[in-house]
Amino acid sequence: MYKNLFVFVLTFLFASLANAQSLRISMQERVPAEWDKNVYSLVNRIENWKPSETAIIICDMWDKHWCPIATKRFNELAAALNPVIETARNQGVLIVHSPSDCINYYKDFAQRKILSTCKDKNIAVLINNQKLPSESKIPFPIDMSDEGCECTPKSRSYKAWTKQTDLIPIKEQDLISESGEELGVYFKQHGIKNVILTGVATNMCVLHRPFGLRNMKRLGMNVVLMRDMTDSMYNPAKSPFVDHFSGTDLVVEYIETYVSPTIVSTDFTGQKQFRFLDDKRKRIAFLVAEGEYHANQRLPEFAHELTLRNFSCDFSLGVPRMDGEGRHNLENLHILENADLAIIFVRRRALEAEKMAKIKKYVASGRPLLVIRTSCVAFDTNKEKITGENNQILEQWKEFDRDILGGNYQNHHEHLKTGTDISIVPGMENHPILRGVKPFNSLNWLYKNRPLHSEKAQVLLLGSNPDKPIEPVLWTNGDNVIYTSLGHWDDWKIESFKNIMLNSVNFLIKEKNQKIIP
Ligand SMILES: [Zn+2]
Repeated sequence: MYKNLFVFVLTFLFASLANAQSLRISMQERVPAEWDKNVYSLVNRIENWKPSETAIIICDMWDKHWCPIATKRFNELAAALNPVIETARNQGVLIVHSPSDCINYYKDFAQRKILSTCKDKNIAVLINNQKLPSESKIPFPIDMSDEGCECTPKSRSYKAWTKQTDLIPIKEQDLISESGEELGVYFKQHGIKNVILTGVATNMCVLHRPFGLRNMKRLGMNVVLMRDMTDSMYNPAKSPFVDHFSGTDLVVEYIETYVSPTIVSTDFTGQKQFRFLDDKRKRIAFLVAEGEYHANQRLPEFAHELTLRNFSCDFSLGVPRMDGEGRHNLENLHILENADLAIIFVRRRALEAEKMAKIKKYVASGRPLLVIRTSCVAFDTNKEKITGENNQILEQWKEFDRDILGGNYQNHHEHLKTGTDISIVPGMENHPILRGVKPFNSLNWLYKNRPLHSEKAQVLLLGSNPDKPIEPVLWTNGDNVIYTSLGHWDDWKIESFKNIMLNSVNFLIKEKNQKIIP
């Protein structure tokens, strides 16, 4: 008896503790840029959520889809999603199973019956299948007029589903609903403020169901999409004629811009984000933390171009400011684990030892690096010591420029209205990185890098200011490292610079089967 009581008290304590432990949610979103409201800046925002105020909705993870290719992918996703759901449930998050059209199957389930009184006309009136005002006049990024079926011959569309897949068991404390009204009322009654959408399909049901992203937003929820725990219905034979998974990425980009922020399952698992086995695209990890050159606008624009060329692009973001709180951090560095290329645009950040170790491990693996502008001092704060939130000393990597890039950065020349003239090193005109590149003028203030530290550095471009020594502005350091001190926001409008960036990705990834660039 005492033993049972002891176990009861212990269980209660653990449950309370789990609930007291807040969830650290790392959100990615695209917001109008501070420097130009007509362009978007990809930023990260960290919030701490109480599990008791948080729900995860599992959208349309059915037992079977009419498209066999979709069924196969959705089963793979379900197997990956369930452990995330279990972890979240154990942390005290409410789990909502929403297999649309199959609700009758669950009519006698307690997890349904509990919602029978959740009715409210004032809430029901908010639910509709319209786009959000933020999306009006915005073209959808993929053509789904064929319902996204990739089969040849096309599969016939019919109601193939009867219930939710058994790969995601429904537990006692969960809910089952396909109604925005029911959930709106229940959430209000139980203080649920944060809602995470998972499941399929991102371009259809996840967006527009009564419990989907748009309606949760209309209900005033703090809603996000878990972008690795979803999939689209998209056929690469339709516009924009890209890989299936690039199609999904374009929809996620659309959602981050016009609908809601996104997160990855890493927030719950601590592991790298999920990726489908059939996603064979080369992976590019962008590390971006900089507040001077609009890198949060320009690199996502570049990534968009690469997505259209069937590269998989993920971002590890820091705050886009020169200084201030939270600056010494990069989120989601797990993306380096499987990256085929890292593109770095970071300025003077110190990092927790564990995070710096991820970067050093990537570099030590010999995988390629494309390093831009201020990133020669990416991990050199110019200060002796930086302390983190818990008063621990953060790590710096002051030798990154010298040892990895082969550079020798010693400040820069003054800002000139006439900019810097960029010319090709004689004899290098046919180098693959310089395909489609002509001499040009850049608004960059010229970095001083002479003499380069590395003997194997091959300089490709030179920069000159009047009455100043000529400086190297683009070089390779071996086969796997490219550095350029170019990267001013206006450089990205110059055809030659854009070609340098695309050629560099091609040069470093060296994938014969990759779509030819540009
Ligand atoms: Zn199909």
